[in-house]
Amino acid sequence: MKADWLRDKKTRLERKNSFDGSLVYGTSKFNADTGRAARVLQPFKDLIDRETGLIGSDLVRSRNCPVCGEAPGPGLFIKDGFRHVRCPRCGLIYVSLILREDILIRYWREETAWLSVLHSSPQSDMDALKYQYGLDLAQSLLKEDEAPGALLDIGAGTGDFVLKAREGGWDATALELNLETADYLEREGIQVIVKPLELSDLEGSSFNLITLWEVLEHLTDPRIILQKTRRILKDSGLLLIVVPNAGSLVTRILHEKSNTFGGHSHLNHFNVESLTLLLNDLDFEIVELETILTELGTINNFLDFQDPYLGNAGEFWPLITPELIHDKLWGSRILLLARKKGG
Ligand SMILES: [Zn+2]
Repeated sequence: MKADWLRDKKTRLERKNSFDGSLVYGTSKFNADTGRAARVLQPFKDLIDRETGLIGSDLVRSRNCPVCGEAPGPGLFIKDGFRHVRCPRCGLIYVSLILREDILIRYWREETAWLSVLHSSPQSDMDALKYQYGLDLAQSLLKEDEAPGALLDIGAGTGDFVLKAREGGWDATALELNLETADYLEREGIQVIVKPLELSDLEGSSFNLITLWEVLEHLTDPRIILQKTRRILKDSGLLLIVVPNAGSLVTRILHEKSNTFGGHSHLNHFNVESLTLLLNDLDFEIVELETILTELGTINNFLDFQDPYLGNAGEFWPLITPELIHDKLWGSRILLLARKKGG
C-alpha cells in the first residue's frame, strides 16, 4: 500500500520543493553558501593540451556508448578538455575519451574539494530532507517484512545517507572509495566496502534496497555495475537511482554552460529515455520515475543575461513553475525506483 503522501500530488510537490536549494535559499545564495561559487572544480585543467584543447592523449582512453555499445557519433561540444558526444542510436550524451581508470580511482580516493561543498550546512540540510524523501518512497514500495531491511548505498559520498538509513532501522552498508568518508563511516560503526563494486565479494541476493545517489553519471561502465547490483539484490528488491537529467529544462537551456558538464567526473548524461532503456535491458521494472530539483533560479538568471549560477534575477517567466517542471520531467535530477524482475 502506498502512503497517502505519495498519491497526493500537492503534498509530494511540497516535499520536493522543501529540499530544492534554488527555491529555498535562492540560487546565488545557495551557490555562495555551499562553497560552489568560490570553488573552481576543474582539477585536471592543467593537463589540457593547448593545441588541441583536449586532455593529453596519454591520460585518456576511448569508449563506445555505455548504454548501447554504439561507436561515438559527432561531438556536441568540448568542455574543460573533454569531448562530449551524443549517441546516434540511443541518445545518451557522454564523454567519449575518459580519464584512465587508475587516474579516476586515485581521484575518487583522494578528492576533498567537492566533499566540502557537500558537507556545507545548506547542502547537508537540503540533503537530509532529500534522503528522507528517498527512504520514505522506497519504504512505501517494499513489503512490510522487507523494509527496513538490508541496504547497500553505493558511492556513499559524505556518508550522511547511510547514517540516516541506519537511524531509520535499516541494516545499512556503504561502498565508498573516498578514504576520508570511509574512515569517518567506519568510526561511526558502519561497514564500508572500500573498493569498486565489480571487485567486491558481496554475495548474491543480499539486499532489499540498493541506492545509487548521483553515482551512475560517474561510472566508466554503468552497465556492469547495474548487472552486479541486480545479482546482489534479493528477488523483488528495489534499486533507487538519482542522476543528473540531461533532458532537464536547465540543461536544455544552458547546454555546455550547465555545471553538470565537466568531463573528468560526469561521464554519462542520462535522460529519461536512455536510463529507461538501460534498466529495461537489464531486467529491472521501473516502479517510480520523477524529477527533483528545479534549478528555477539558474534558468531565470540565464534568461535575464546574468551569470546563471551567481546572478540575482527575479522571476522572469511566471509560467515556469516547479509544478510544470516536474510534470514535464524537466527537473535537474531523475529519481527512479526499479524492482528486480524474475528470480
Ligand atoms: Zn547508445
